Amino acid sequence: MSQGEFEGYGGRYVPEPLQDPLEQLANSYDEVSQTDEFQTEFRQLLEEYAGRPTPITHAKTLSERYGADIYLKREDLLHGGAHKINNVLGQGLLAKKAGRPRLIAETGAGQHGVATSMIGALLDLETEIYMGRKDVERQQMNVFRMRLLGATVNEVTRGGEGLADAVDAALEDFAQNVDHTHYLVGSVVGPDPFPRMVRDFQSVIGEEAREQFRARTGGLPDAAVACVGGGSNAIGLFHAFRDDDVALYGAEGGGKGADSSKHAAPLASGEDEVIHGMKTRVIDEDVEVHSVSAGLDYPGVGPEHAMFRAVGRCEYTGITDDEALAAFRELSEAEGIIPALESSHAVARAIQLAEEGEHETILVNLSGRGDKDMETAAEKFDLASQ
Ligand SMILES: *Cc1c(COP(=O)(O)O)cnc(C)c1O
Repeated sequence: MSQGEFEGYGGRYVPEPLQDPLEQLANSYDEVSQTDEFQTEFRQLLEEYAGRPTPITHAKTLSERYGADIYLKREDLLHGGAHKINNVLGQGLLAKKAGRPRLIAETGAGQHGVATSMIGALLDLETEIYMGRKDVERQQMNVFRMRLLGATVNEVTRGGEGLADAVDAALEDFAQNVDHTHYLVGSVVGPDPFPRMVRDFQSVIGEEAREQFRARTGGLPDAAVACVGGGSNAIGLFHAFRDDDVALYGAEGGGKGADSSKHAAPLASGEDEVIHGMKTRVIDEDVEVHSVSAGLDYPGVGPEHAMFRAVGRCEYTGITDDEALAAFRELSEAEGIIPALESSHAVARAIQLAEEGEHETILVNLSGRGDKDMETAAEKFDLASQ
C-alpha cells in the first residue's frame, strides 16, 4: 500500500502539473517534520503563541442533566478561537524550514484565511489568500482581519465566484510557483501528503486530552465525540484513541433535517468518489450541501474518516441545524461557554449519547468558540427583542 492510502481511500488524484509539486512537498514533510529541531520549535510555538495546552473541563450541569460524565476539550480557548491554529503553525513552520517564503491558501467563510494570515505575519512569510467574490462580500470582517495581518486577498471572479473557484485558483498558483510557495490546506483533505500531514499537526489535541483525562479520572473515556467538516479536529482527537477501547463518534452537518436533499454528511449518507485530489466519501450530486455552520459545509471529507467508517472504527451521524442550535444555546446557558456552531454538532451528539445511556464518560472536542456565530444566533433566537 502506497503512502497516503487509507484502505483504498486517499491517494493523489491530480493532473500532471501537480504531481511533482506534491512529491516535493511530501519529501520536505518526511525529511523536516520528524527532526528534533522542527518538533521543538513546533511545540514551543503551540505553547507560547497558540496557548497550549488547552484544558479539559467537566461539564457539570450537562452531566447531571443527562446522566453521563461529559468532558470538553477546550480548543475554543486557543489563539484565534479554534483548533485551526495547530495546523497553520505546523505547515507555516514547514514552509519556512523547507525554504518556501510564500504561503497561499483558499478560504470560504474566512476562518482558515485569517488563521493562515496570522501565521504568515508571525513567521514573516508573504501570504496570499484566494477567496470567491461572493465570500469576500459576505465575510467583510474576515477580509479586514486578513488585510490587517498583512495578507493579500485575491478576489476570485471566475465560475460561481465561491469556494470551489478559489480552490482552482490556488491550485494553479501552486503548480506555477512551487519552488518558493507552500499551499496551506486547511483540513485533512486533498491529495497526499495533506491528509496525513494535517492529521499529525492536529494530533496534539488527542495526545493532550488522553493524558489529561487519565490524570483527572484515572482512566480513559468510554466515548470520544467530534464534529466533522473536512475532519481535522475530529482526526486530531481520535488519533490518540484509535487503538484504545474508546468508542469514536463523528457528527456531520445534517442540514435542515426533514429536507434530506440538503445536508453536509458525506459519511452518514454519501458515496465513494474522487474529489479534490483524493478518493473519499462525497455527497451525491443532486444533494445541495448545506449546514447552518460554514465550517461543516463541505461536500467531501478526509479519506481517513472514510476508512474509519468503512472498517467500522467510528460511527458518523448527521446532526440537524436545529439540534446543533439547541446544543449551542444549552451549553451557553448551562456551562457559561458559547461554542462555535460547528462544535455544537459534537455537543448535540454527546447529549444524544448520554441520553441513550450506553457510555458513562464522554469526551467532546469543543473545536472553537462561538463569537463568530453571534449574528446567526441573534437571528435564530431573536436575541434583539428579549
Ligand atoms: C473550521 C472549523 C471546523 C471544521 O473543520 P474540521 O477540519 O472538520 O475540523 C470545525 N470547528 C470549528 C470551530 C472550525 O473553525
